[in-house]
Amino acid sequence: MKVGIMGAMEQEIARIKQQMLRVTKITKGGRTYYQGDLHGVEVVLVFSRWGKVAASSTATLLINLFKIDFLLFTGVAGAVARDLNIGDIVIGTSLYQHDVDARPFFPRFEIPFLKKHIFQPQEIHTSKLHTACNIFLNDLPQYINAPLLKNFLITQPKVYLGAIASGDQFISDNTQDSLRLDEGAPVLAVEMEGAAVAQICEEYIIPYAVVRVISDVADHSAHIDFVAFIEEIASLYSAGIVANFMTMFIEVTQAEEVASES
Ligand code: SAH
Repeated sequence: MKVGIMGAMEQEIARIKQQMLRVTKITKGGRTYYQGDLHGVEVVLVFSRWGKVAASSTATLLINLFKIDFLLFTGVAGAVARDLNIGDIVIGTSLYQHDVDARPFFPRFEIPFLKKHIFQPQEIHTSKLHTACNIFLNDLPQYINAPLLKNFLITQPKVYLGAIASGDQFISDNTQDSLRLDEGAPVLAVEMEGAAVAQICEEYIIPYAVVRVISDVADHSAHIDFVAFIEEIASLYSAGIVANFMTMFIEVTQAEEVASES
């Protein structure tokens, strides 16, 4: 089982890399892919770069050159739903591209030729990721000290599962019409890569999951020090969540081995 880990922050890549053993690296197309062992799981770690095109290209290489069996995407996102706060975690259960509009040939948001606009990771993976995030938040004081959390007004961070919108724009006005889906649950968060990576994974039939830490509330009221947030908070979130998720991967793989032996 080989897991591809794409991060949208260079700082999280650096932190995750510190936990890896037997690291080798390959550079292609301006991206550096780190191969090695992460908590007993064979992984390929890479900075996705920002935006749908960059992330799709990185995902395609992970699948075709590195032959990953699973793709985990981590990064930060802006909150769309009002009750989300900085430091909350969102796991994508539905991902769509809010900037796709090929009307009149296809309905709004529909990806040409795929006959769909929403990508849904398998529940088994989102629920595993949910557990990994909950464990991380329970242990949060061990990772980040209380005064630092308070600086960023992180008091009772929570994990949410729901819809994430992706598009090639940094959104600072979350009242945009494209950030509302006509049907289903409300959109929780907005970012620039998730649904593009989901599309590639579905086209190549590779299971995947997307997790995001809320870095801004996607309106004009958010004025945190973004660089400090990434360095001191979000990258630690990612590294902690990814570590927990890898440990769970081992458990699942071992259970599968036991089942196949008996
Ligand atoms: N201001 C930041 C830039 C980060 S924006 C800096 O100076 O470092 C790009 C990354 O943040 C992308 O990975 C994107 O997915 C994510 N992101 C966070 N908040 C977002 C928002 N409100 N709209 C779109 N993308 C957002």
